[in-house]
Amino acid sequence: MSVKLPIYLDHAATTPCDPRVVEAMLPYFTEIFGNPGSRNHQFGWRAEEGVDAARRQVADLIGADHKEIIFTSGATEANNIAIRGAANMYAKSGPGTTGRGHIITSTIEHKAVLDPCKRLQKEGFDVTFIEPPKDGIVTRAMIEGAMRPDTILVSIMWANNEMGTINEVPQIGALCHEKGVLFHTDATQWVGKMPTDVEKDNIDLLSFSGHKIYGPKGVGVLYVRRRKPRVRLQALVDGGGQERGFRSGTLNVTGIVGLGKACEIARAEMDKDGERLLALRKQLEQAITSQLDVVQINGHAEKRLPHMTNISFGFVEGESLMMATKEIAMSSGSACTSASLEPSYVLKGIGVGDDLAHSSLRISLGRWTTSEDVEYAAQAIVRAVKKLRELSPLYDMHQEGIDISKIEWQAH
Ligand code: PMP
Repeated sequence: MSVKLPIYLDHAATTPCDPRVVEAMLPYFTEIFGNPGSRNHQFGWRAEEGVDAARRQVADLIGADHKEIIFTSGATEANNIAIRGAANMYAKSGPGTTGRGHIITSTIEHKAVLDPCKRLQKEGFDVTFIEPPKDGIVTRAMIEGAMRPDTILVSIMWANNEMGTINEVPQIGALCHEKGVLFHTDATQWVGKMPTDVEKDNIDLLSFSGHKIYGPKGVGVLYVRRRKPRVRLQALVDGGGQERGFRSGTLNVTGIVGLGKACEIARAEMDKDGERLLALRKQLEQAITSQLDVVQINGHAEKRLPHMTNISFGFVEGESLMMATKEIAMSSGSACTSASLEPSYVLKGIGVGDDLAHSSLRISLGRWTTSEDVEYAAQAIVRAVKKLRELSPLYDMHQEGIDISKIEWQAH
């Protein structure tokens, strides 16, 4: 079987809509176009029925009650509502209090978590940024070590968007519940790929986006726990009071219906997809590591999502490698930061040196990736790396057994 070029291996950045999702959405553009807030006629009722059905499909995927699902424009907005909304609602005040409260997160979170936390820092909250070790895993013990009597919120992503590494989310959730601290997880890369149960996994607030799970862009979810404990949040946007007042604004009905369908499909197919993708990822890693020296797979060897890998190729620039393999869509660093040539803060955050952080590729497989695609991509990458290294005097020196790190370069 021949492969169809270009090959898309950047599913951690976004996924194509599943045709079944598009089909479910179509009637809501034209025939069922009502505003679900229009309570007084059939057009509104029918749109509301579509939204309600989607709410249940989403809730079923993550083990929540449908009343606990808030629709947003994506994970970025959901993270902001969760973190800023919770911090402002649970802020300490009154005599005897020094700061407004303590928040724990990690240095390898997505910017959509880091930046709201930094904003809160400026507004008087104390924030601890946990630095995970080389394997990239944030553990319960790390959070426990950072807990303080005034901690009000912990926000730790479930799976990292650059390496796919999986944090100890259920255990961190259990700790937070023992201590009476709210727990938020950015589950954008996790939900729809791996089983999720907000009850068993001890989660109070959870965010994700439709477009990472073969749904449409511009729609996402914030799960907000309603009991044990009932989570309260200060809204960021005021208006018509939709979504229990947490997120005012007319609902994106087509997007929501599509997201619901994407959740239903993910729930039914994730086990099968996950197994297939793990085999493909192993095929890819094996093909690359068996043919090249000085390559490193970043993050924990096993505790990773099945469909993605992050590989550093010594003596090669990530950007040059991508230019040399233009028929394959991959990412050097995450899409959101790849406009800059700064090495990935996530890789640097777990102690990968500047050189290897600069030479890394994130490769993420998806629902329609075939074994032939993977084989083609692996061979193209291997060819390109070998060719680029032919031009590298440093690689020559490495092959001659010279330790590059010990060389004292002369500045002129
Ligand atoms: N969090 C994580 C972990 C992500 O991977 C992304 C998408 N790159 C986001 C948040 C933001 O998602 P969106 O752009 O859909 O709001």
